Amino acid sequence: MYLYNSLTKTKDEFVPHEPGKVSMYTCGPTVYHFAHIGNLRTYIMEDILDRYLRYSGYDVTRVMNITDVGHLTSDADTGEDKMLKGAKREKKTVMEIAQFYTDKFFEDCNALNIRRPEVVEPATGCIDEFIRVIESLIEKGYAYEAGGNIYFDTSKLEQYYVFHNFEEEDLAVGVREGVEEDGNKRNKADFVLWFTKSKFDDQELKWNSPWGVGYPGWHIECSCISMKHLGGHLDIHCGGIDNAFPHHTNEIAQSEAYLGHKWCNWWVHVLHLNTNSGKMSKSKGEFLTVSLLMDKGYDPMVYRFFCLQSHYRKSLVFSWENMDNAKVAFNKLIARIATLEKDGEVDGAVFAEQKASFVKALDNDLNTSLAVTAVYDVLKAKTNGATKRALLADFDTVLCLDLLAHADALNAEKNAEAEKPASDDPFIREIEELIEARKTAKKEKNYAEADRIRAYLADKGVTLVDTKEGTTYKLD
Ligand SMILES: [Zn+2]
Repeated sequence: MYLYNSLTKTKDEFVPHEPGKVSMYTCGPTVYHFAHIGNLRTYIMEDILDRYLRYSGYDVTRVMNITDVGHLTSDADTGEDKMLKGAKREKKTVMEIAQFYTDKFFEDCNALNIRRPEVVEPATGCIDEFIRVIESLIEKGYAYEAGGNIYFDTSKLEQYYVFHNFEEEDLAVGVREGVEEDGNKRNKADFVLWFTKSKFDDQELKWNSPWGVGYPGWHIECSCISMKHLGGHLDIHCGGIDNAFPHHTNEIAQSEAYLGHKWCNWWVHVLHLNTNSGKMSKSKGEFLTVSLLMDKGYDPMVYRFFCLQSHYRKSLVFSWENMDNAKVAFNKLIARIATLEKDGEVDGAVFAEQKASFVKALDNDLNTSLAVTAVYDVLKAKTNGATKRALLADFDTVLCLDLLAHADALNAEKNAEAEKPASDDPFIREIEELIEARKTAKKEKNYAEADRIRAYLADKGVTLVDTKEGTTYKLD
């Protein structure tokens, strides 16, 4: 498989450190709010990578952190602590909101068929680990104490800017964002490993450390959690492109300073989901969540399908129009799959040939859009329904769009519909049609239309009765 590597800036043939095994680390969510669908695009594409590596026969171990302390509103060491901000907003404790939004995050992942990594570790569960690694960095001369905090000294590295060619002046984060710059830093790019002197007197979570009571910086958690579970050689580290700098750059700096050798071979970054007005964020415009999509009548699989239709290294534009197009395309695809005959024997030659083009697509830097084309090619192939269904089932272990389940559900729905005898009486037929139309309107949250239908029927002496089994009616 060829996979683009942000370190080499080329598509390289993927070779794991240990043959047959892949260690994979994913930056997890900061659990102070719901994940927006832009964050979830990253998790969907990482899920495809994870599943495709398994499909290709690798034994994958994947680790993800949950950030529940130390992540400031600016990714540099300025701004407010995100968790504290969330707790204040909701008048809850930090641990309460951490639990709540961790659960919500995994509910979203479930809805989108995103596999849960083998290990999920909250930052607050690894404090001893952080302290141990920071102590070692101080001993090795890579970290220093200033003004009560512990900083990583980026000037001690041969090369700090591994992904981009940032210049020091570009990093005037403090100045740019109008926040006070940290005068304790020896170099502008230095970052905090441990805070004791914090501008947040009300920081809820604090721990004892050799440097006083305090809490860890954000970057140290991913290095430590990864090394704790996956050892000193990591095959793939992934995350959103906005994490490349400073977060991943800092992770590499401290991990390699600590280990004394190269840490991670592949850095995989997923590009942004944009809206027409720019990068999607929680604070800008409509806050787009999975539940909002579902409330608006979109199956979560439609969003997954929408993401798969474009390459992870291209930014993707979200609009309701684009979602509608994806919904129409997805429903058409399901309707075509629903017509496939189940009987017959799988044609081995056709199966191998079609599978080869699916593999070729994903082997080329995870080209999911071509993998989706391979699905359509299966439907066009000159072979029986059983072979097509077998191929779709096989592809869907990676794509995870629940293709056959959706098609079978559609058929079941159609059969149930066909079994209902239609009334001869045109008035009864009209009532039944309107009950159906009202059901659809309610599903689409078009309550005005649902109410209009109820009122229209009431005028004609028909009272609708909603029960758990569905809607029935009484005639006056
Ligand atoms: Zn991280």
